[in-house]
Amino acid sequence: MMESVLISDDARVDRWTDDVVAENVERISRGPLKAVAARIDKGHYPLDIMAALGEAGALGVHLERHGARFGLAIDAMQSASRACGSTGFLMWSHDVCGLYLEQSGNSHLSGSRLDAHAEGKTFGGTALSNPMKAFSGIEPMMLRATRVSGGYRINGTLPWVSHIAAGQYCGAIAAVLRDDGSTSHEVMFLLDCDERVELRPCPVFSGMEGTSTWGVRLHDYFVGEAQMIADPARPFIARIRPAFILLQVGMALGVAQGAIDSSVEVEPMLGHVNRYLNDRPDELRAELDDAVRQTRVLAHTPYDGSKDYLLDVLDVRARGSELALRAAQASLLHQGARGYLMSAAPQRRIRESHFVAIVTPALKHLRLEMARLCKEEFPA
Ligand SMILES: Cc1cc2nc3c(=O)[nH]c(=O)nc-3n(C[C@H](O)[C@H](O)[C@H](O)COP(=O)(O)OP(=O)(O)OC[C@H]3O[C@@H](n4cnc5c(N)ncnc54)[C@H](O)[C@@H]3O)c2cc1C
Repeated sequence: MMESVLISDDARVDRWTDDVVAENVERISRGPLKAVAARIDKGHYPLDIMAALGEAGALGVHLERHGARFGLAIDAMQSASRACGSTGFLMWSHDVCGLYLEQSGNSHLSGSRLDAHAEGKTFGGTALSNPMKAFSGIEPMMLRATRVSGGYRINGTLPWVSHIAAGQYCGAIAAVLRDDGSTSHEVMFLLDCDERVELRPCPVFSGMEGTSTWGVRLHDYFVGEAQMIADPARPFIARIRPAFILLQVGMALGVAQGAIDSSVEVEPMLGHVNRYLNDRPDELRAELDDAVRQTRVLAHTPYDGSKDYLLDVLDVRARGSELALRAAQASLLHQGARGYLMSAAPQRRIRESHFVAIVTPALKHLRLEMARLCKEEFPA
């Protein structure tokens, strides 16, 4: 089935024009991805779809080497998430991993390794939930590093990391300990999931089961120069954080858009009574269009380091989450018993929208950051 969506050899990297990327992503999303969305929800990890999206340019166009087209990358994620939120999340995980590799400036990571990643020939995600929360003072760092000759040894456990498997990889951060046990700084590295890494099955989640999510346990895992993304990690994270968060908006808006589609679908049969419901498709579509507009403006300057820019990014990410939650709930109410079937798209989207609201930065984390930034701006 996948042969029909793979683009031909002459439409490769240098042919990733905006129109070609958008067209091919739309074709994959509406065709093979939509067809397997229910299977992905139950646990199928869609690496064939990810490879097709990579070949189509959807996983590489946000990189500086391909024009830093963040708007196009977010549109692509929105298009896929409209059909399947889990695949949208895999795209985000993959996109930010590519961002880490490129922005590392480490020639071991930003050369052919990144090319293969950007084209969807190899796969990897991100293990940054815990450090992102730790840097905001929400929880302690879970990976610890000790300095050794030529690099660091890493120990610790992360409870859930997606888009990894044996032979894949993810960006990770560890706190570097001094002899007295205090933290001197943090290091960021590419964690290759080779024989040194223990991948532990996670408990069954209520959704996102096809995202290949594992617990990761490291015991004296050595990291040398070839895997180093940033040492120290904090300035690097401060630089890429708005881009990290902004990219997630594609996932939120796509889930919302798919939910609006489900509400519209039943208008011919149920419109006469559904018009008494709140969050009608037209109202939600107007909010969606507004969020898309704002996201596209922000996507022009993903490395803007100003406080105002970060606030705008946090705001649109939070609004996207809230919109996805409301649209998913509305789609269930609009579809009624049809949407209450276990196999119905609104059921799946309710769970996907909950994930959008709890994945780091979760809605509560976004609000904490916004409150903190506003307080700095307007101290009491
Ligand atoms: C399906 C799925 C995929 C994910 N993929 C990734 C990924 O690719 N990369 C990544 O870095 N993070 C991943 N996460 C983690 C995610 O981003 C959030 O950190 C997580 O959902 C908790 O966020 P929270 O802010 O709501 O924390 P809270 O729910 O407030 O919890 C705070 C902390 O308590 C711990 N905790 C709470 N409940 C449990 C539990 N039942 N078992 C073990 N520990 C628990 C966790 O360490 C958690 O971070 C994934 C989570 C899920 C459910």
